[in-house]
Amino acid sequence: MGRNSLEERLVQLREEIPQEVKLVLVSKKQDIKTIKCAYDVGQRIFGENRVQELVDKYDALPKDIAWHLIGHLQRNKVKYIAPFVSMIHSVDSVRLLETINEQGKKNGRVIPCLFQVYVAQEETKYGFEEEELRTFYEEKGLINYEHVQICGIMAMATFTDDRERVKGEFRAAKNLFDNIKADYHADDDHFNTLSMGMSGDYLLAIEEGSTMVRVGSAIFSNT
Ligand SMILES: *Cc1c(COP(=O)(O)O)cnc(C)c1O
Repeated sequence: MGRNSLEERLVQLREEIPQEVKLVLVSKKQDIKTIKCAYDVGQRIFGENRVQELVDKYDALPKDIAWHLIGHLQRNKVKYIAPFVSMIHSVDSVRLLETINEQGKKNGRVIPCLFQVYVAQEETKYGFEEEELRTFYEEKGLINYEHVQICGIMAMATFTDDRERVKGEFRAAKNLFDNIKADYHADDDHFNTLSMGMSGDYLLAIEEGSTMVRVGSAIFSNT
């Protein structure tokens, strides 16, 4: 491998993003050997969007990896990842949160979760609107969810070249994060994660307040 090896791209990316911003390396569709390369240069947080792939990779790779589930999650599959998953970014319904809580209980764990929120204009995106989240907190609250830890918010911008639009959507997500934190997690140090930004827009996301970026293709292409 030459100047543009996976290792070099990873080191470069780490230098590019502020120390306090966490990097979830999105390893979907990558094989074990490739992921091990990233592991060997120090990467420890990996993101997958499919449960089966996540489980297979968990089994095959070192156990000090923190595995994050970043894609839409079906309730009947929560049980497969509940024993080990480090964070679920994609909690997009109260029913899913309930299932994660049940599975957390079964496994004697408290599972870190993010509420996926809807800020894009694309209609296929999953997630809560701010009002729906407020309704959840007002009507249910977290009192009955002892086996989940709500750590913040995850958002995806519209897939577009229109930077201003993407920026506006990130700004909306940051605003929503701040509002929910102020009103429902004011003294909660665990509510500290705003997961937004992918290969095409992570710098913009960081400018707009992201604390965790999910980057895949920018690192894994050309390998
Ligand atoms: C694939 C994926 C990413 C990473 O996308 P890249 O453009 O490859 O960086 C981030 N978040 C989610 C939810 C994804 O599915």
